[in-house]
Amino acid sequence: PDNNAPPMPWFGMDIGGTLTKLVYFEPRENNRRELDKETEVLKNIRRYLTRNSAYGKTGRRDVHLQMENVTIRGRRGTLHFIRFPTSEVGAFLQLARSKGMADLVNTIYATGGGAYKFEEDFKKEVNMRLSKLDELDALIAGVLFVDSMNAQECYYWAPPNERPVHQQPSDTPPYSAEALSVYVRKPFDFSSPYPFLLVNIGSGVSMLVVNGPNDYFRVSGTSLGGGTFLGLCCLLTGCSSFEEAIALAAAGDNTTVDKLVRDIYGGDYARFGLPGDLVASSFGQMCAAERRAKVSREDLARATLVTITNNIGSIARLCASNENIERVVFCGNFLRVNPLSMKLLSYAMSYWSRGALKALFLEHEGYFGAVGCLLHLDI
Ligand code: ADP
Repeated sequence: PDNNAPPMPWFGMDIGGTLTKLVYFEPRENNRRELDKETEVLKNIRRYLTRNSAYGKTGRRDVHLQMENVTIRGRRGTLHFIRFPTSEVGAFLQLARSKGMADLVNTIYATGGGAYKFEEDFKKEVNMRLSKLDELDALIAGVLFVDSMNAQECYYWAPPNERPVHQQPSDTPPYSAEALSVYVRKPFDFSSPYPFLLVNIGSGVSMLVVNGPNDYFRVSGTSLGGGTFLGLCCLLTGCSSFEEAIALAAAGDNTTVDKLVRDIYGGDYARFGLPGDLVASSFGQMCAAERRAKVSREDLARATLVTITNNIGSIARLCASNENIERVVFCGNFLRVNPLSMKLLSYAMSYWSRGALKALFLEHEGYFGAVGCLLHLDI
């Protein structure tokens, strides 16, 4: 064990534009006994966090993401993954105070815009200092660490027979529910990752070229991200949560909303190899009043999801080909409970690059920034 390690409890926090992610390191039992230093307050915090999976009204622990046998600073233990809406930071601070955290923790390692925005509140409410880390540094450190600790971390969505999608028989439209339903999730060996493009789809989107553990730059981004999907979906369908928006999208059909190549050409635009079922104009059918009168909430949600996802996909593809990169890793909470977007991205990456680009995904989706903070807890 590292004798200079800071005292328990160990947390890493990422206070994002929409969600706050909290990662908690629970030291292993024999470790705790060895140290025999665990105070009552510390024990209570540990029990509270590890015995519940819901905290207050909106805090949730992603139990399925829990990682056992993780070594950090020479200590073995379990990583727990907790999230709550950033709009509830006030309630979080009250809870932290009621559990006695204020007496125990004087510094929290934090990243994300909220680490700046809420710095004063942390100081005032619970007398905690936020030690701030850059969110992109933290993100990459987190991705590399989690991948090194979990053989199942990185995966991809394989089309039937694993043939590149441009060689698949084209009797089903590529974006149809039917065509996407046959994609299966498979593990990907990410042990020699460089170079790769990292596309973080949070409220907004950042794209990073990663050439080595400490060698990266931000190439691009777009404000049309997960926040745009959810915002537009709420406006168009009256839904009120991300889960609801995703469920609507999964049940919908975007071809009643979007104008396809075949709606314009009557079939394929053969000269430039554009298939008839390709979207030519996102939401292009909604100019007509009679179409609007018939459209369902599900179809609108689906079209919003497809629009946002394909736009991110095409920017990512341009960045990757510009930088001569073959692997594009997507992360961020937009992909949470959202296999549809992952399959669309997989399809689009492969199709438009004629099989040269591969879309990869990570199991811990939106938690890497928070993990990155936890790793830096010596600063
Ligand atoms: P940020 O750091 O900007 O908050 P995240 O990686 O946490 O970014 O992703 C936020 C996005 O994740 C939202 O814009 C939304 O699309 C999606 N999302 C997934 N789960 C939820 C949820 N429970 N509540 C709100 N948004 C969610």
